[in-house]
Amino acid sequence: MKAMYRCWAEVDLSALRENLAWIRNQVGPQVKIMTVVKADAYGHGLKQIAALLMQSGTDIFGVANLTEARSIRAVGKGWPILLLGACLPEEMEGAVRDDVMPTISTLEEADQFAVLADQHNKLIQVQIKVDTGMGRLGVEAELAMDLIRHVRSLPGLELTGLYTHYAAVEDDPDYSQEQARRFNKLVGQLQMAGISIPLIHANNSGGLLHEPGTLYKLIRPGLLVYGVVPSGQRPMGSKLKYQVRPALSWKCRVGFVKEIPAGKSLSYGRTFVSAAPMRVATLTAGYGDGYLRAGSNRAQVLIRGRRLPVLGRITMDQMLVDITTLPEVNTGDEAVFIGRQDNAEITVNEVADWMGTIPWEVFTNITYRVPRIYRGGQAS
Ligand SMILES: *Cc1c(COP(=O)(O)O)cnc(C)c1O
Repeated sequence: MKAMYRCWAEVDLSALRENLAWIRNQVGPQVKIMTVVKADAYGHGLKQIAALLMQSGTDIFGVANLTEARSIRAVGKGWPILLLGACLPEEMEGAVRDDVMPTISTLEEADQFAVLADQHNKLIQVQIKVDTGMGRLGVEAELAMDLIRHVRSLPGLELTGLYTHYAAVEDDPDYSQEQARRFNKLVGQLQMAGISIPLIHANNSGGLLHEPGTLYKLIRPGLLVYGVVPSGQRPMGSKLKYQVRPALSWKCRVGFVKEIPAGKSLSYGRTFVSAAPMRVATLTAGYGDGYLRAGSNRAQVLIRGRRLPVLGRITMDQMLVDITTLPEVNTGDEAVFIGRQDNAEITVNEVADWMGTIPWEVFTNITYRVPRIYRGGQAS
């Protein structure tokens, strides 16, 4: 597979399968798993990943828009899908037709869906989002009870879930526990009122690692399914420790090799000038493939199992690497941005640090130009 491409991503489906099995093992059989596959399954390729997750025991899918939901439906019917974002007015009818569960934050949205339920003669499953501190979507925790009662009073709607989202769970234990306290208070009020909602949920990947006390009936892992542990200020809990494996590797090739004398500048802006004679490799990928220019003069890549520094500005289609210490590097060699080579490994978390961003953004930046190559597709 390596000889055919200039830049490509390899996705190891067996890693995804094992990660989901490991997550399942951590939470037990009582807790359902919503695998979050928005943004083309975090850049891994939505259709292939959805198919794999269907075979591997996901209970529900979480998406950002209806196009993503339809891609999942094209792969397999029958899996519930939750639209995590707000539903635009013109999307509501489509969501109802395609049986995609909307997230509701207001009385008005509930009423609009109730009208559609009547028009389509359907019972529409909806979930309510509660804003306990994220400040993005959801009804204020204090007003949630009114909304819950209202939705339950509408004959066309079935309230299948109630959820909230952590704002700083990887970094801030106090704020997270305050969010958990607000949500728990509401869950307690529901119990007192004898109201039962099947799917109560709060935990994304960071929540699972840092607030295992708020598992409830469902979890919503994204990053962890792809085998990446979100990094942050909070020390990793001992129970849920690093037992997932990254599914995605990202690679390109050495396109050109040369020797340069001392005092020569490299790439746009002349931000790097050689202090001594050196050997330089030109790679066949750049920010046009999604390798952010912010990694200029900072990032590292693997060639022949060695970590080598990026020199000068990353350009659209090419970037430069110092191979002075590795004279055997040749045109055509494989260079690794993310993943393993021999005994060396570069993680997406490291790449994110070099680029000044987060692993989620590194993944979702990998562009359409980069073919995703799948292996490990058969259950072993
Ligand atoms: C994206 C998202 C998730 C998944 O988050 P990870 O940190 O990748 O696990 C879960 N819940 C909601 C509401 C999201 O938007």
